Amino acid sequence: MTPEEFRRYGRQVVDRIADYLHSIESYPVRSPARPGEVRAALPEHPPEEGEPFENVLADLDRVVLPGLTHWQHPSFFAYFPANTSGPAILGDLLSSGLGVQGMVWATSPACTELETVVVDWLAELLGLPSSFRTDAAGGGVIEDSASSASLVALLAALHGAGGGAPRAPGTADAGRYTLYVSSQTHSSLEKAARIAGLAPDDVRFVDVDPATLAMDPAHLDALLTADVAAGARPAMVCATIGTTSTTAIDPVRRIGEVCRAHGVWLHVDAAYAGVAAVCPELRGINDGVAGYADSYVTDPHKWLLTNFDCSVLWTADRTPMIEALSILPEYLRNAATSSGEVIDYRDWQIPLGRRFRALKLWSVIRWYGAEGLRAHIRRGIGLADELAALVAADPRFEVVTPHPFGLVCIRPVWSDEADRPLPAGRANEATTALLERLNASGELYLSHTRVGEDVVLRMAIGAPATERVHVLAAWDHVTAEYDRLAAEGA
Ligand SMILES: *Cc1c(COP(=O)(O)O)cnc(C)c1O
Repeated sequence: MTPEEFRRYGRQVVDRIADYLHSIESYPVRSPARPGEVRAALPEHPPEEGEPFENVLADLDRVVLPGLTHWQHPSFFAYFPANTSGPAILGDLLSSGLGVQGMVWATSPACTELETVVVDWLAELLGLPSSFRTDAAGGGVIEDSASSASLVALLAALHGAGGGAPRAPGTADAGRYTLYVSSQTHSSLEKAARIAGLAPDDVRFVDVDPATLAMDPAHLDALLTADVAAGARPAMVCATIGTTSTTAIDPVRRIGEVCRAHGVWLHVDAAYAGVAAVCPELRGINDGVAGYADSYVTDPHKWLLTNFDCSVLWTADRTPMIEALSILPEYLRNAATSSGEVIDYRDWQIPLGRRFRALKLWSVIRWYGAEGLRAHIRRGIGLADELAALVAADPRFEVVTPHPFGLVCIRPVWSDEADRPLPAGRANEATTALLERLNASGELYLSHTRVGEDVVLRMAIGAPATERVHVLAAWDHVTAEYDRLAAEGA
């Protein structure tokens, strides 16, 4: 493709993205595609001869778009938001256009140093402790996902717990290293433990308070004491600020005190909710992070207007992470690395190669400014509060758990002809049927979770395009569909 062709098609692509975002409400939120449908519409074999780019664009309309679930749709309320924004898309396009591979400082100094500036900026915007800054002992890094970030944290923690010696899994002196999570911790921690070579039994589940679903620090203390007595080496505790299921907040300060007493690494997973701390009035969610957290992760790619992938991991002391992950083969040796004056972010992540992700986060922070980012978060929380008030006032529904952020967990209340509440099993079937009907309508998209024995609807607000009218319309859909199902004798 010549530069002139690139210019022509590039303009078309940017126009298409703008048109797509402009007309996104004309699509069904959840893709109606059936399994295999997209694949069947595509040729089985690659083209022998090159094709004009128009063909790709035509197939985008014909095959790809109908097979998409529209995450940027204002009525997308499932999972958590995966925000994007103009400046983020453009920053990512620039990253593609520059085609830089930033594995070490020497392979593109600006790729590394801009990232350092941006993660320090974000730490400042979120009010994170000064120890997380690169000019202190710690520092931040942009990873592809919170899952990778938590794996990196676990490897650093294991390195520290093993006295800095590389572990030899499977050998007698490898020791038994343990990881502490709760039933509400994201599954990526269990996956990280598997990847790191921990046995399934070495992932220890700390009890949660049944009302708040937050981790119980007293039980953590008891588990740690018992495990140490049994010869285990506790490596890491993961506390969550804003759990995936219901956005519960673990008591980080009290968990931190327990970690301190036992000398265990505290990792804080704030993948979804951490970015809310751009608002000074929400900084309380991070109580205990300063002084106790050894590592902390939050995802600008969820709720901070930065398209996937952009997850920021900070550590209070980068040394164990770098020791755990640094291997320097001859072909990567260079004067800058040897001088010790530069950061090589390849030692802060699992892969060697790295995209220039800092460009999109830099574009976002500069375009919106701190005030713009705060306004975005506050709008999501305000709409969630308004929705929760509607739900709470409606006898057909209950707000199940606290809703400190943009997620409201809603339990429909089902009863039989005699107005007696349905048993959990049948109520869950009715809730599942309600969810499926709502999502099949294409008008909105919700997801679900389980709280205790109840299936509940999750409605996560926070897409940049979502306005009050979309939330009110979604609530109308939910109540109308509930009435129809109830009338059918659900
Ligand atoms: C979404 C989420 C994750 C996983 O995030 P990825 O960036 O997709 O890996 C981890 N922890 C929590 C609490 C989450 O909500």
